[in-house]
Amino acid sequence: MKEAVVFYPAPLIGHLVSTIELCKLILTHQPSLSIHILIITPPYDTSSTSTYVSTVSTTLPSITFHNLPTFTPPHTLLSSTLNHETLLFHLLHHNHPHIHQTLISISNTHSIQALILDVLCSQSISIASQLNLPTYIFLPFSASGLASFLYHPMLHETYHKSFKELNTFLAIPGVPPMPSCDMPKPLLERNDESYKNFLNCSLVASKAAGFIVNTFEALEQSSIEAISNGLTLPNSPTPPLYCVGPIVSQIQNTGDNECLKWLDSQPSKSVVFLCFGSLGVFSKEQLHETALGLEKSGQRFLWVVRNPIRDQNHNLALGTQEDPDLDSLLPKGFLDRTKEKGLVVKNWAPQAAVLSHDSVGGFVTHCGWNSVLEAVCFGVPMIAWPLYAEQRFNRVVAVEGMEVALWMHENVEGFVEANEVEERVRELMESERGKRVRGRVMVAKDGAMAALGDGGSSRVALDKLLRAWNGRSVHNKIS
Ligand code: UDP
Repeated sequence: MKEAVVFYPAPLIGHLVSTIELCKLILTHQPSLSIHILIITPPYDTSSTSTYVSTVSTTLPSITFHNLPTFTPPHTLLSSTLNHETLLFHLLHHNHPHIHQTLISISNTHSIQALILDVLCSQSISIASQLNLPTYIFLPFSASGLASFLYHPMLHETYHKSFKELNTFLAIPGVPPMPSCDMPKPLLERNDESYKNFLNCSLVASKAAGFIVNTFEALEQSSIEAISNGLTLPNSPTPPLYCVGPIVSQIQNTGDNECLKWLDSQPSKSVVFLCFGSLGVFSKEQLHETALGLEKSGQRFLWVVRNPIRDQNHNLALGTQEDPDLDSLLPKGFLDRTKEKGLVVKNWAPQAAVLSHDSVGGFVTHCGWNSVLEAVCFGVPMIAWPLYAEQRFNRVVAVEGMEVALWMHENVEGFVEANEVEERVRELMESERGKRVRGRVMVAKDGAMAALGDGGSSRVALDKLLRAWNGRSVHNKIS
């Protein structure tokens, strides 16, 4: 019977991409490995995932996808008041029986060595234990994020108000003092369904056979130590931690991409790149203000702009994006006045390739964990401007913990004024403080290369993980 490891990623394109990158790492680490990788893909966000999945299927024959049945959310779930995470957890609950069935049918043809659940799918651990499968949790975010995830039940018992109302600094082992309002967005309101779901995920996590985290020891020493020493799970033994990162998306063949050609003509380390993840969007007013700040800073810039949001409470662009009309969105004459120094691109830029370009000297980011890691790997200092999910948490970690970023300050309404944009960009590119941050990120970059090199901490962790899988092969057919 063939041996296999089975992945169950969360139904979000970012999580799926991180999972595939982890799979590629496993396959390249042991090219002769007889393991087959099976990925159970949940039916959601199909427009963006299906093209990606079919590309992976044709280029990586060692990976097979098992699609779960489609899910049509009930009408009540699609109301605009319901948040994205709640919908996501409904889908995951709906998938529960299908996961069970799929694992049983896989076991007819494969011996399953390990099941790797995305952190958001942690609640499926109960199915895995019924089937007696060694189950690992993969976190496509930081070790600090894992520390806070594991410590959440302790915080829940200690405090009786929602994080958004607490107005205090939380002491999470290994993590810089965390303003309670900077906890991940779905955790801010204690009575929210998404809060309860995340809490349930945290409560079952200690049953995992191990945690696989996309980070490396030198980058997050204090949180990794706190987790490994059991400080974040004081009431039960902590499963082993495998820090196998940084896993970042590989630079695609970008051909004659407009922004890369433009970067070729700019001086070394002179350009500030502004890009806000796969989903980040701003209001029209915020786009306008950002443009004014950039222009006043006098710095060179490459800026990815999307159509503005309609709902002021969300910074998420879900679904396909139409091209923005830059002339109507940006200040009058802005594009013309800045044409010698700046380039605005619509919707998407090949971020990894841009960050690796010698002309890029700074990165204004929403602090998605992949973006932070990509900046670290290419040695680009950051300005942290979080928008959604766990990005405010990541800002604290990147600025206060790793010291690889400067803090972009919002006013009380969450709006970033032109003066702030101007000052931060200047500070990063021209000041002593900016130089220090640049120095720190270069040290982190060297640390990343060392972690991935021969004998490096991440290579050693990956070896251990693969040995653990080989040693725990489940040979019996499950039923
Ligand atoms: N990305 C990109 N071009 C863009 C926006 C995003 O290539 O214009 C990539 C980026 O390189 C990263 C991923 O999309 O690999 C975004 O992941 P991250 O975790 O930073 O943020 P998320 O999109 O999950 O919020």
